[in-house]
Amino acid sequence: MKSAFLSICLLALLPAGAQQSSALRVNGQRVHDHLKELSKFGANPEGGVSRIAYSEADLQGRQYAISLMKAAGLDVHIDTAGNIVGSRAGSDPTLRPLLIGSHTDSVPMGGNYDGDVGSLSAIEVAQTLKEKQIALRHPLEVIIFQNEEGGTVGSQALGEGLDEKHLNLVSNSGKTIREGTRIVGGDPNQLASARRQPGSLAGYFELHIEQGGTLQREKIDIGVVEGIVGILHSDVTIEGLANHAGTTPMDQRHDALLSAARFIEKVNKIVTGVPGRQVGTVGWIKVEPGAYNVIPGKVVLGLELRDLDGKKFVGLFDQIRAAAEDLGKINQTRFSFTDPVISHPALTDKGFQKLIDDTARSLGFSTKMMPSGAGHDAQEIARIGPVGMIFIPSIDGISHSPKEFSRPQEIENGANVLLQTVLAFDQGH
Ligand SMILES: [Zn+2]
Repeated sequence: MKSAFLSICLLALLPAGAQQSSALRVNGQRVHDHLKELSKFGANPEGGVSRIAYSEADLQGRQYAISLMKAAGLDVHIDTAGNIVGSRAGSDPTLRPLLIGSHTDSVPMGGNYDGDVGSLSAIEVAQTLKEKQIALRHPLEVIIFQNEEGGTVGSQALGEGLDEKHLNLVSNSGKTIREGTRIVGGDPNQLASARRQPGSLAGYFELHIEQGGTLQREKIDIGVVEGIVGILHSDVTIEGLANHAGTTPMDQRHDALLSAARFIEKVNKIVTGVPGRQVGTVGWIKVEPGAYNVIPGKVVLGLELRDLDGKKFVGLFDQIRAAAEDLGKINQTRFSFTDPVISHPALTDKGFQKLIDDTARSLGFSTKMMPSGAGHDAQEIARIGPVGMIFIPSIDGISHSPKEFSRPQEIENGANVLLQTVLAFDQGH
């Protein structure tokens, strides 16, 4: 009784627009229907989609998204990088644009939620604003980035830009990025005009499925993403001596694969030996010469480390290298590492994290701060402006698979958090 009275008093203090907009909700059924419709383009027999960038299915999916954007009252164009941009004017022309969106391309044999949930929810936000005739102060841009799964191509074109090396890369479709960009309506010779200058955006919010199992396991409604982890890769070569497996006594072997086995175990020990959410993986291995009767003389394997803190995984890499040297001494094998290839972590904006967290809680949802172990378009946009990311649960943590699934209610929750975050941001900045 007392608290109801208090909230009535608080409501009375808010401007009329704020009262009205805080009660605004998306149409969950419509998001669900749109997801279902989009899933037809590139549908595979396993129940997912193979809508790889630049394929016929990708073009159809994009066309469908464009039709939804137009229905939501957005002014749609394809930028020179091939991204679909739907704009809505703001009431204050001095303000920088606020971006929301994601991607609609998929991995081969992908699912119906990765990228699609964020893209269609962003369009739903615009549709809801239009229906309820809510004017934002900021210009709003709903953006669907091209070829996210092939290396965040479209968002990178907005941020850091694409160079010749990128453009010449062959994508999953068999076409180069240059050819693909043209196919989706961009102009690879005019990429400069798609770039956005640092500081030119008010911000970017992206809703996405978690693609891991944490939220479901801990029964949390909404994940507030602290950042997208950085990744370190290094190829590790172990050289021993190939020799006869029948005649070489056990104490006289320089078995490269035995050292590799010890190394893999050691990577796991070092990565789990310090507190934190860092992960480390040996994901592939090649053994030479590779026969029953020959002691392996050479092994090459792939080491990957990920964390939100770039310094931390570089420190772990140094420890792993030192440990490898010791392991090699046991059976006189020699470890060498290629220079690590590092993609730096991209942190989300602290103020945006709080805004998403407060908004989600005000809608009655439980929240958790968490890193994103997967890459996203938001990591590219973070290089030119503040970004925020909203996660919803992925059932059983499965993604990049036809089995990928998020419940309609959870999608609706995420879309409402996106909507209310946009409104709260617009009123507060
Ligand atoms: Zn994605």
